[in-house]
Order: sequence, then structure tokens, then C-alpha cells
Amino acid sequence: LTDEERDVLERIDREGIDFLRLQFTDILGTVKNVAVPADQAEKAFTEGIYFDGSSIEGFVRIQESDMRLKPDASTFAVLPWRGTSARLICDVIDTSTGEPFQGDPRAVLQDALDRAESMGYEVNAAPEPEFFLFEEDEEGKATTNTNDAGGYFDVAPKDLASDVRRDIIYGLEEMGFDIEASHHEVAEGQHEINFEYDDALSTADNVATFRTVVRAIAAQHDLHATFMPKPIAEVNGSGMHVHFSLFEDGENAFHDEDDEFNLSEAAKQFTAGILNHAPALAAVTNPTVNSYKRLVPGYEAPVYVAWSDRNRSALIRKPAARVPAASRIEARFPDPSCNPYLAFAVLIHAGLDGMENDLDCPDPIRENIYEFDEQKREEYGIETLPTNLGEAVDALETDETVYDALGPHVGPKFVEAKRAEFADYLVDVSEWELDRYLEKF
Ligand code: GLU
Ligand code: MG
Ligand code: MG
Repeated sequence: LTDEERDVLERIDREGIDFLRLQFTDILGTVKNVAVPADQAEKAFTEGIYFDGSSIEGFVRIQESDMRLKPDASTFAVLPWRGTSARLICDVIDTSTGEPFQGDPRAVLQDALDRAESMGYEVNAAPEPEFFLFEEDEEGKATTNTNDAGGYFDVAPKDLASDVRRDIIYGLEEMGFDIEASHHEVAEGQHEINFEYDDALSTADNVATFRTVVRAIAAQHDLHATFMPKPIAEVNGSGMHVHFSLFEDGENAFHDEDDEFNLSEAAKQFTAGILNHAPALAAVTNPTVNSYKRLVPGYEAPVYVAWSDRNRSALIRKPAARVPAASRIEARFPDPSCNPYLAFAVLIHAGLDGMENDLDCPDPIRENIYEFDEQKREEYGIETLPTNLGEAVDALETDETVYDALGPHVGPKFVEAKRAEFADYLVDVSEWELDRYLEKF
């Protein structure tokens, strides 16, 4: 056992933990658990816990279904809403090879980080997940009625949800989160909680945990928290902006004192890489049919493939940084329905690709691109993101860099799942169609 593992065993004892939830995510980003009695902890560290992977989305074929969970001791956390349970995030090991299972999203992200490391970099990431709080109906089913009528940065009494948000923040802090800020977002019932940046793997773990904690604590208040990107038409949707920087020998490799934007050549090439692969990236960072209802002009979500040092209509923004260590870029297109491991993995690979190929970064766009007409966009050479999931998956399949970033297991499974999801959507007859056509024809 490592020291960290021994510490975990001690804490289990001292804090009277009965159950351990061994946690991992499937390809679609859904958190899965295997619960074991706490006295199995030592065995879990030394031998791992075997489970049948054939029932997990996209994991394995039936005939090769034995997987082993290997808990990462650094992720031990007591679940605040169930005082005697704790969770550990696990790597999934393929029992036939003893190697990390290539269908585990955490392994896919680890591969991206290994590539960065081989180039001399550590990757930091900080997400800004937004979400809505909705009332439940008598049967406890989610509605789209917001429980408050607050707006951006409103404070109580208008912001009735601040109690819930406070409880959510306490819950997150108990689980070891460093909360930087929280505020009411632009839309009624919409919120954002930001937490401290960390290495990209820990941050992806944190996003998975964050979504679970927010939903569980909202439920205690009889509210439904949703990370669906666009629950209400004609109102701002929920994004999950992700801030990235690369560190080299403890120094921020994205900072350059002498540059107009304080961005280094590395930062610009990384940006160029993301812009270059944006349509294919969208399939992973914006992976639902509903994601594309958010990516429309006029709601602070990006639509056009460009970067800016001031404008929020661009795909990538360079936020103002108070200190050199904080120089970073903000990818504004991801939404919180994504699998954070896969989304970070493809974004990082695209950025590193820009660096390896010395891609030229275009000039920033300083005007509001929402207001550009087609001619002006052509003049500036600005492309648009895919307008639906089908187009995004087409782009993913033809972009080798992004497709390969998912690895040989996840790539085909992901495409298959998303094609099926889009096909299902295409045959649906929506409320909109009925309203529009039923009586007219
Ligand atoms: N809710 C907006 C989005 O869909 C972002 C608002 C903001 O800038 O925080 O991305
Ligand atoms: Mg926001
Ligand atoms: Mg932001």
C-alpha cells in the first residue's frame, strides 16, 4: 500500500465509514458506482474490485466483460449527504491485459496528458459549469418552472435560490472543493459555481463530482438541477466554459510579458489548434441534440470559429489576467452535458496539435460577431460551428486528430451512440411542428 492508501484506510476507520462507492464514468459521461462494504478497501487497493463491464454503456462486448476497478486514493471523499459513505474515483483495468482499459474515459484523458508531458507540459484546467434549478411537480418530476426570478449577480431577496446555492457550496467544500465564486447567471433560475483550477485530470474528476453533488443537494430542497444545455428556448442556455493553461517547469507557458495580449506563441498555437478542429471537437464538447439549440446567436454562447480578447461571441476568449500565472485561454463552446474526460482530452490534443504543427493564430476579432453578415464573415474568414449533432459527428469522423484522440475503443462507440441519438431525433415529430402545421394544412 502507498502512504496515501494507508491514510484512506485510517480515515475510513476513524470516520466510521460503512460503504465505499467506487466511481467511474461511461462513455456518455454518466457516473457509475459499485458500492462495497468499507472493509473491502484494502483489497480494493491491492487487488482491485472486479465487475461486469458488459452492462455499462459502450464499455465492452458481452464476451469480454471482466473489468477491474483500481481506486485512486487521492480522490477519497466522504459524501456529505450520506455521512457514512465515501467515494473513490477509479481507473478501469482490462483484466485480460492488466493495462488501463481503453474504453475508460479517464484513460483517454490520461493519454492526452501523457502526450503533453512528453512535450514538457502540465495541463491546468478550470471549468465554469452553469445549471438551472427547476421546481418539481407533485410527483417529484422535473418541470421547467424556475424557483426564482433573479438575474445576473442579483442578491437576495430576489435570489431565493441562494439558500440552495449555499448548501451546494457547503456540500462541495466538504468534499474538498475550493470554491472561487458563485453567482446567479443571466437567466431566471440559472446559476454558476466556479472552483479553483487544478491539473486537468483532477478537474475532470471534479466536474463529474460537481454534477452529482449539485443534483443531490438540489433534490434535498425539492428542486431539480439540470445541466441540460438549453432547457428553455429564447433564454440563455448553460455552458461550461473551460480555461486552459500549460505549465513548463512550474512556469506558465501561456504567458508572455511582451505580447499585446500577454499570450505566448505556445498559447496562440494552442488556440489555433482548437479553432482548426472546432467542428469535430463540438461533437464531443457539445454532444447532445439539445447542445446545438444553445449555440445560436444572441445568448452569449459562441457560434463562430474565432477568438477574441474581449468579445463573448467568440469561440475562445482571452480573459484578463491579474498575474502571469493566470494567463490562460477560455474555450466558451463546451457545455455541461459533455463527458468532461473526453471533452478535455480532445481539446488538449487539438491544442497540442496546433503547437506541434506551428499553426498560425488568426487575429482576434474585437467586434460583436453576432452582428456580422455573411459577407463580413467571409471577408474575415470566419467559419461557423456545426448547426446540429449530425453535422458535428460527420466532422468528427473526418477529422483524424480529434477522432484518434478518443482512442480505438471510444472513437467508434461514441460515433455509433451519437449517430443513433441523432437518428432518433430526426424521426420525432415535435411540439413545434404540431403548433406550426397541424391546423394550417
Ligand atoms: N450562459 C452563457 C453560455 O451559454 C455564458 C454566459 C457567461 O458568459 O458566463 O455560454
Ligand atoms: Mg457564466
Ligand atoms: Mg466564462
